[in-house]
Amino acid sequence: MTLHEQIEAAIKDRLAVAQAAQPGPWMTGETAPHLVDAVVYGQSTSWPGHITQACNVEYADGGMANARAIAANGPDRIIRDCQRDLKVLARHGPARRLGGVHEICAHDWADSDGWLSMWPCAEIADLAESYGITPTEGTP
Ligand SMILES: [Zn+2]
Repeated sequence: MTLHEQIEAAIKDRLAVAQAAQPGPWMTGETAPHLVDAVVYGQSTSWPGHITQACNVEYADGGMANARAIAANGPDRIIRDCQRDLKVLARHGPARRLGGVHEICAHDWADSDGWLSMWPCAEIADLAESYGITPTEGTP
């Protein structure tokens, strides 16, 4: 599996997890007086226009901090992040092999600045790192 394929698979796995979760936006209970502070609420799938509990971290060690972190990273946010990452990946695919060894990143053909970047370019290396993938030198 190429680095490009590894990153794409990791993004799509993350996207599928977020799409299967209760829809966002998620919010903590502290946002409304009748809700429980350390409970995270999301959009109801069975009662449109209403919210229901997505998870309850009231008794977790992190309590309110956990609730805020979970709500800030709800499925709607993750879906947007994954969609952005797939666009970045599409712009930065390996485009051309030089001397049978290295690839040139596709973004160089589009930006026409006269400089070539080897695959993976800095953007792809950062994207791979964010998904816990270590680029191997010479791997397309
Ligand atoms: Zn690139």
